[in-house]
Amino acid sequence: MTNSYNPFESAKAQFDAAANILNLNESTRELLREPMKEIHFTIPVKMDDGSTKVFKAFRIIHNDARGPAKGGIRFHPQETVDTVRALSMWMTWKCSVVNIPLGGGKGGVICDPHNLSLSEQERICRGYVRQLNSLDPNKDVPAPDIMTNGQHMLWMLDEYETIKGGHFPGVITGKPVGMGGSLGRTEATGYGIIYVLKAFLSEIGMPLADTTVSLQGFGNVGEYAARMFTDLGGKVIAVSCWDQSKGESFTFKKSEGCDIPQLASFKDAYGGIDRKKAESAGYEVLPGDSWISQDVDILIPAALENQITPDIMPKISKKVKIICEGANGPTTPDCDPLIKERGIELLPDFLCNAGGVTCSYFEQVQSNMNYFWSKTEVLSKLEYYMTEAFHDVYSLSRSNNLYMRDAAYIIAVSRVAEAVQLRGWV
Ligand code: NAD
Repeated sequence: MTNSYNPFESAKAQFDAAANILNLNESTRELLREPMKEIHFTIPVKMDDGSTKVFKAFRIIHNDARGPAKGGIRFHPQETVDTVRALSMWMTWKCSVVNIPLGGGKGGVICDPHNLSLSEQERICRGYVRQLNSLDPNKDVPAPDIMTNGQHMLWMLDEYETIKGGHFPGVITGKPVGMGGSLGRTEATGYGIIYVLKAFLSEIGMPLADTTVSLQGFGNVGEYAARMFTDLGGKVIAVSCWDQSKGESFTFKKSEGCDIPQLASFKDAYGGIDRKKAESAGYEVLPGDSWISQDVDILIPAALENQITPDIMPKISKKVKIICEGANGPTTPDCDPLIKERGIELLPDFLCNAGGVTCSYFEQVQSNMNYFWSKTEVLSKLEYYMTEAFHDVYSLSRSNNLYMRDAAYIIAVSRVAEAVQLRGWV
């Protein structure tokens, strides 16, 4: 699978398509096509061996017309500024499509946590907050993303509160439960995908319990999507993930259906599955990209961007009826026409994976009230928001004969365009 695509070019191409359909004026296009603010900085970190390493980092605010910028901070050795730009733009559309009062932002640090001790990671987190100097519960509110978690967020919160001299739990989300975090946040993105999928299957009259899935990625998103999907009676046939020790990905397959809690028990901290344990539990271990060629009804890419490209389209089985995008930007724009041509229904990323940010919004609300809801309450509100958002997108797509990605873009972009126009920015 190729990674030569630039995600920011993809994000802009998708935006341009929506802007053309909406006939947006030139200044609105110009404003929404680029991030409003970019901060590039370095974090000097004292390493455990006494040396100092300097890490490159970014925080990018795409647009905050509808509310404070919201978006995760990723730790990744191959992080690029264009990936962070694209992700910040997708966050704006994501918050808008689920109709929560937040804008879009994203952050990243070029580093590989696999090669860093916990105390080195803590120093990166604290350094990020000190150097960035722009976080604010009313302006810019980060969250975890690839290779960051609740512990990283709590170190960042602690550094922020130390600098400010008070408690500001609303400045960051994805905090551990009991420390200002919301119940249900861990499950929210994965469950949100399945709430959307369930609503879609019900619209097209396909019982979820009769469907099969192949999944790429078994991290936070993939695992909880798989758990909810199998809890509802569906079968996950194959799961692909990265093997850090081998430096390549593998697909774990069981034709009669994977036992998701069992596979989860074979996982390392980064979402890799122990091959030996899986083999002895009867899983076939196949090459990493075999997840795409399985004879299943539904493909859920939930790992990385740029995984479904024109050159791999022929490998997708004729049986596949739905691509349900869990990751951000897993499909390249030049693939959309091919997906339409094949008659495959596509549930777009920024709708499907908006459960995480929706629950982050709930976390902010609870943090600000200092009153926390039960998990059942959180998840029922989450299902409501995700299902409403799906129905908005689905109705527009059916009434105007639109591809669902285009319908989602039209709804999301038009809400943000309206906000910048009402504020008098354009
Ligand atoms: P994660 O780090 O928890 O898990 C990533 C998974 O992908 C792991 O199982 C890893 O082994 C696998 N993977 C990595 N490279 C792979 C490859 N080449 N082939 C197959 N598998 C590979 O990350 P996550 O939080 O689950 O996020 C996954 C995607 O979902 C990302 O695109 C992220 O931006 C997006 N997303 C995450 C959230 C969230 O709340 N965590 C919310 C919205 C979107």
